[in-house]
Amino acid sequence: MDTRAVVVIGLGPMGQAMAGAFLDQGYRVTVWNRTASRAEALVTRGAVLAGTVDEALRAAEVVILSLTDYDAMYAVLGPAERSLEGRVVVNLTSDTPERAREAAAWFTERGARQLTGGVRTPPSGIGDPAFSTFYSGPRELFEAHRPLLEVLTGTDYRGEDPGLAALFYQLQMDMFWTSMLSWLHAVAVADAHGITAEELLPYAEETLGGMPQFLNFYTPRIDAREHPGDVDRLTMGVASVEHVAHTTRAAGVDTALPAAVAEIFRRGAAQGYGDSSFTSLLEVFRAAAA
Ligand code: NDP
Repeated sequence: MDTRAVVVIGLGPMGQAMAGAFLDQGYRVTVWNRTASRAEALVTRGAVLAGTVDEALRAAEVVILSLTDYDAMYAVLGPAERSLEGRVVVNLTSDTPERAREAAAWFTERGARQLTGGVRTPPSGIGDPAFSTFYSGPRELFEAHRPLLEVLTGTDYRGEDPGLAALFYQLQMDMFWTSMLSWLHAVAVADAHGITAEELLPYAEETLGGMPQFLNFYTPRIDAREHPGDVDRLTMGVASVEHVAHTTRAAGVDTALPAAVAEIFRRGAAQGYGDSSFTSLLEVFRAAAA
């Protein structure tokens, strides 16, 4: 098989950037997309547009998938499953760890092998080794195709379990969306007082940019499952988040987000963690999972 050839299925902003990065590096690139017109610019640059999914799958050993989610993947590959035999599917479609494991088994049943990926950059970072993508699945498969994967971004291999790349991706998304929403919420409260996002920006940068020192301070304590109230006490935290909720309400801004935060803090206090650090809320989260 030609190791300088690759197939890219799915030409949203991400798939287009990926196919473009392979073209830049001199790969022979075959593409397929449900909406064929999205391939036009890539074809102008030298990509081959396959007429069918079967034709695309037969064009190279390595197939990059960049679809909205795994439902889209089954919709695209299901009718062409007989052409999957012998393929290495680098699945850069985001979905849950469970679905990544199911998909790995689905590919194995069809004679193909999956490397799960979790891309950690917007399309603008594709082709830049400073960014990184999580991978998981068979190690030898990852090692064998590493040079090809490194055309896209740097790599961070998480382990054999096909769900791991998806899990690490989701952990990052968990932090990303909650943090971004907290910022957007503060912008809304500021806006209600005539303060622009621009005016808030230096303070937002200071608050969110200062998070690493808190993470580094609390992480060893969390791993030791110790939540001493020597620096912060949950009762202080309850009062503080209630002030945020009141400030939000007084500004006429939607209170759903601070109300949820206050509810979690109050639950911790009700469970007897009032004199402990806010990190004791981890035990509240864990109890819900048990
Ligand atoms: P889009 O959702 O914009 O496009 C993905 C592709 O999926 C399109 O080519 C679309 O085809 C195709 N598609 C969706 N549903 C179907 C279907 N039922 N049948 C056939 N094709 C379908 O996603 P992006 O390109 O932005 O991202 C791709 C993946 O990368 C996603 O899983 C995303 O979570 C992940 N990702 C994206 C990032 C980003 O910043 N964009 C960052 C990190 C990860 P069509 O063109 O015909 O609509």
